[in-house]
Amino acid sequence: MNETASLRARAEIDLAALRANVRALRERAAGAQLMAVVKSDAYGHGAVPCARAAREAGATWLGTATPQEALALRAAGIDGRIMCWLWTPGGPWREAVEAGIDVSVSDLWALREAAGAAAATGRTARVQLKADTGLGRSGCQPADWPHLVAEAREAERSGLVRITGLWSHFACADEPGHPSIAAQLAVFRDLVAHAEKEGVEPEVRHLANSPATLTLPESHFDLVRTGIAMYGVSPSPEVGTPADFGLRPVMTLAASLALVKDAPAGHGVSYGHHYVTPAETTLGLVPLGYADGVPRHASGRGPVLIGGKVRTAAGRIAMDQFVVDLGGDRPEAGADAVLFGPGDRGEPSVQDWAEAAGTIGYEIVTRIGVRVPRVYVNGADDPDGTGGGAERGTGARPARTQDHETAGGVKR
Ligand SMILES: *Cc1c(COP(=O)(O)O)cnc(C)c1O
Repeated sequence: MNETASLRARAEIDLAALRANVRALRERAAGAQLMAVVKSDAYGHGAVPCARAAREAGATWLGTATPQEALALRAAGIDGRIMCWLWTPGGPWREAVEAGIDVSVSDLWALREAAGAAAATGRTARVQLKADTGLGRSGCQPADWPHLVAEAREAERSGLVRITGLWSHFACADEPGHPSIAAQLAVFRDLVAHAEKEGVEPEVRHLANSPATLTLPESHFDLVRTGIAMYGVSPSPEVGTPADFGLRPVMTLAASLALVKDAPAGHGVSYGHHYVTPAETTLGLVPLGYADGVPRHASGRGPVLIGGKVRTAAGRIAMDQFVVDLGGDRPEAGADAVLFGPGDRGEPSVQDWAEAAGTIGYEIVTRIGVRVPRVYVNGADDPDGTGGGAERGTGARPARTQDHETAGGVKR
């Protein structure tokens, strides 16, 4: 047994898959730059390793929600353009300006904090003006846009800020054909035209998230901001499967079976006894629970691959563990239980878990808890420049290059 095989559970992160996904998305949005969205610890995949891998694959921008996330990337030594957009009054504006991070501004208070930080540090704040083109969440309302643009231009003329971007976000890009998509595009074009008429010369105009990057070329403008697709998960089944777009799931969530035991017919299983063994059988204990991000809502439904068969969580998913009815099979304790992965071995997908829990794939991967170690595989960029493809699908286990490095492969 090597170190990885002895782990209770692990989230394997295939950085070659991530790099290949970035390259596939860049091809799809040829002519635009790509921002790798690594907010929320890269959707649970690990912000710093994923940011580095995305950079290697040509992501010229990194995006985070909070300024703390952006500053953490800088502190880890990641240079180049980084943008963050979820600000509150009194946030670390000075630190962000000093670190050369692009900051998003939806309102005058934020513009003033950015300009104030610039004045205090003697540096120019890189500011991106965000419009609400119809999402109804963050962003400046069209009615207020002229005022925000005018004040930003004034701050630009005084040297305090440089307006580096004009941007917005879609409401329904994951529902291709939704009427709000064309409406938002039209509003965005108007608001950009107004700002440019006022003298704004943005480096980047951007609107597309993953679903728009995949399905809506006219939304690509100068930059696409891809999150979920980069991790090889589809934004929604309506958009398609990852494979439809040449994307490969990056995360595999697996655990080591903690116990296999006999149980008689009529045995209640887990809290509340919501499952009762229909016949004499064997039970397997999977040492992952809702504290690890395995959704309790998937109790009685969540799928897991054990010994070549997909089983279903029997009864309640508890905080740290759940049980499967193995139907008489007797894998050994320590056998791999794979909750989701790319599917090479017939394991379920993130989307399967999303459906079992009544949620979306985004929530499944982002909620994998800190107690689950991330094991990075294929950390080094492929030296022969074949775009990562050569590292895939061979059946050979990839080299582990970061945490939990091992000389050999994982026990399968
Ligand atoms: C999270 C986020 C994205 C990425 O969305 P995906 O659907 O995961 O590609 C892009 N832009 C903004 C503003 C976001 O908050």
